[in-house]
Parts: sequence; C-alpha cells; structure tokens
Amino acid sequence: MKTASILGVHFHAVTMQQAVDEAMSRIRARCKGYVVTPNPEIVDLCRKDEKLMGIVNRAALVLPDGIGIIYAAGILGEELCGKVAGIEFAEQLATAMAKEGMRLYLLGGKPGVAEAAGRNLCAKYPGLVLAGCHDGYFADDQQAVEAINACGGADAVFVCLGAPKQEKFIDAHLDEIHATLFCGLGGSLDVFAGVAKRAPDIFIRLGLEWFYRLLKQPSRIGRMMKLPKFLLLVIRERLFGGKGKSK
Ligand code: UDP
Repeated sequence: MKTASILGVHFHAVTMQQAVDEAMSRIRARCKGYVVTPNPEIVDLCRKDEKLMGIVNRAALVLPDGIGIIYAAGILGEELCGKVAGIEFAEQLATAMAKEGMRLYLLGGKPGVAEAAGRNLCAKYPGLVLAGCHDGYFADDQQAVEAINACGGADAVFVCLGAPKQEKFIDAHLDEIHATLFCGLGGSLDVFAGVAKRAPDIFIRLGLEWFYRLLKQPSRIGRMMKLPKFLLLVIRERLFGGKGKSK
C-alpha cells in the first residue's frame, strides 16, 4: 500500500472502499491488527510522543481523518486518495460485517452509550452480531480486557476512548484480547448512539465540519486553534524539510 508521510505519520493512500476491503480481508484471514484514524491533533501528539508515533505507524491501516490532513498532504506534495473519516469507515465496516454475520464489540463512551450505539447499529445493519459492550470509564484496563474475552471475543472491536488513550489501550492489549481487528474511533459511539450529531451534509461536503462543531460547541476553540499551528508546521516542513524542530 502506498503511504503519504505527514510530519512522521505514514498515512495509507487508500479510498474508503479499499480500506474496508483490506479490513475485511484481515478479519476473514484472522490476521490480528488495528486501524487508526489520525486527525491533525493526533499527528501533533505523535510528534511529541515517540511511543505513540510507533504505535500509529505500526497500524494495519492509518486513515486520514479530517480535512486538515488532506490540506497537509497537498502542501507537502504527498498523494492521498481523499479523506477517509473514522466515523464513515466504522459505518462502512459495520455494513460489510453485517453481510457476513460477523461479531462486533463496542468499547467506549459514557455508561449506556455503547449499548445505545449497538442497538442502533444492529437495527440499521441486520445480520450484524453485537458481541458485547463496555463503557470507556474503567478504573483498570484488565476489567475491559476480561469483559471482551468473557463474551467469547469478536471479529472487530471499536475502541472509542479518545486519542491517545485508545491507541495505547490497543497496543497494550492486542495480544490478550480475543478479537482480530481493533479500530480506534474517538467519539464515534456518541454519534451512533445519537448523543452527538454529525454536521449537516453541506458542511461535510465543503470541508467545514470543524466549523459546524465549533458553532455547536464554542468551548472547542482551544482544540481548534491547533489546526492553524499544525498547518504552519507542515508549511515549515515543506520549506525547510523539518529543520529546527520545536514544540
Ligand atoms: N472517552 C472514554 N473514556 C475516557 C475518555 C473519553 O470512553 O476515559 C470517550 C468519550 O466519552 C467520547 C470519546 O471517548 O465518547 C472521545 O471523544 P472525542 O470527541 O474527544 O474524540 P475525537 O473523536 O475528537 O478523538
């Protein structure tokens, strides 16, 4: 698979269909691995955390989540096949899994969120088997590991604990959890549960989903100011090849 390097993170240049096909092939072959969906905020975290960078770059699929990554690829002259948003990938993967009667486990969100997300996904995609659910506010990782294994494992686990917690959880427990594919998907369960809403289509099509989220939740301004900083870092990388790295 071709990759595009953005500040050290190696994104896979795949379309949504190719990403889902690759994920399904791995599940069918029982080939353990994980999918990450970095946005600019996560790329920035990776620059400051070598361990996280390693985890992200060892993923079976590194999908470009968010318009900021697409802009960055354009600035750096790196080729991607467009945005593959984590939430849309999750939805497409659930669709494909449902057709083959596969087992999905949902981990993350406040108590009750994963259950509601599971009910909605199963109603929308008949054939999908909900292996189990667990909220994302466990005191001890082992509790979540045992909960997944106790239900007989799963073909895929949506790990929705926010970054970088979810990536670190996957890396630490991949081997001991009886599941094939792990997907780090941030706040996706909130959307599937109907707790959080995605932006109207027009905002998504214009690449302005971030702006809609800012209007709905002005307190996100601090997080969002990281985007211009990220793009400045990318421009510097383009002009000076990453010389004079700073925080
Ligand atoms: N979350 C969790 N456990 C934690 C912290 C967060 O399950 O210890 C959940 C939180 O409830 C939310 C998701 O992780 O559903 C993070 O959502 P956010 O929108 O911050 O993630 P993003 O998609 O922006 O990475």
